[in-house]
Amino acid sequence: MLTERLYYNDPSLLEFDATVTAVEEQGDQALVSLDRSAFYPTSGGQNFDTGEIFGIANGSRVRVIEVHEQEKTGDIVHRIECPPGWLLPGVPVRGEVDAERRRHHMQQHSGQHVLSAAFERLYSFPTVSFHMGDDYCSIDLATDKVTPQQIEAAESLANEIIAEDRPVEIRFATLDEARTMGVRKIPPAVREKLRLIDIHDFDLNACGGTHVRSTGQIGAILLRKTEKVKQGTRVEFVCGLRAVSTARRDFQTLTDAAAAFSTQLWELPQQARKSLEEIKTAQKVQHRLLEEVAELQASNLLRTAPERPIGSGHKLVVEFFADRDLTFIKMLAQKLIRLDKVVALVGCGGAQPSLVFGQTPGLPNDMGALMKETLQKLGTRGGGNRDMAQGGAPSADSAEHALSEAASKIG
Ligand SMILES: [Zn+2]
Repeated sequence: MLTERLYYNDPSLLEFDATVTAVEEQGDQALVSLDRSAFYPTSGGQNFDTGEIFGIANGSRVRVIEVHEQEKTGDIVHRIECPPGWLLPGVPVRGEVDAERRRHHMQQHSGQHVLSAAFERLYSFPTVSFHMGDDYCSIDLATDKVTPQQIEAAESLANEIIAEDRPVEIRFATLDEARTMGVRKIPPAVREKLRLIDIHDFDLNACGGTHVRSTGQIGAILLRKTEKVKQGTRVEFVCGLRAVSTARRDFQTLTDAAAAFSTQLWELPQQARKSLEEIKTAQKVQHRLLEEVAELQASNLLRTAPERPIGSGHKLVVEFFADRDLTFIKMLAQKLIRLDKVVALVGCGGAQPSLVFGQTPGLPNDMGALMKETLQKLGTRGGGNRDMAQGGAPSADSAEHALSEAASKIG
């Protein structure tokens, strides 16, 4: 027997008496069907209600944790947490819908109708889908682009309609009647009568959801992110108390960010851009200084570097820098091999101990092969070519040790 949907005619009804028609036990849970129910099952973008079921015969109550429509029969199925044998078909129960969750869903869903109508009226953007999430809701508009000005105008119109506290009524009509009434979106009809949600003089739309009694109960609507999606543009929004808590969270985030920049909220974007510019400039300056240091260091090292192999006229530089990084030792190796005929074996410690082997092009060694041999012993990764190679070391100590071992292989 199809469940009588009590929320259909009276969305404010939160307590009801019913009789169990079917029970399917699943461990410490059960799927329960009732002859009538005020629990809203997930459908039309609106999420399910939760609440409690009170067993009148056994005098105890259990949680309703999920509610859905059975696909084949359209019956409403309540998932409850209960001991085995707690409910049997034919027993009387009392259902109690969680009022806060329902109110929250009504605010979001009615807010969606107002917002969709606002976009339709202002820009003829039809709404193609509605999603109710844990943190925010969204609608998908059949348009490639929604500008920030359009977002602001739709939000403003929606909030005006909310402030005017217009009555929201449930009406029923046949498909033919609905066609003459200016219904915003007529679904492919399955029932003989369409249920229409009528926001006085603003919107008329076919919908099975639970709605507020007047738009004032929506409280407020706050539009947030827009995003390009396959079927158009997604607009995120929040209504009612959630709009307030979201605005509060945004404000807190901005306040924290402004404090970090020692500035006012409204100066934050400008301050952030300025700081990014400063960082870029500082990085350029730092790079230039580093080049100069590397150049000086290279000249100093070459002054005292021994000839290897003896009589070859080629120099050997072996140097470990405990506090420098890979960028610096690479820079240094490149300068060294350009300034003289030299084999440069350099390493660094720090957060990422590394090795760089380089030689002036034309010298007879193979830096890539020497690096490969070294890394095999260290058990790390890296590589390079005949004249320049680099790799990692597990520690500063092992990097320093590997340098002297590699040096012993250069004549
Ligand atoms: Zn709806």
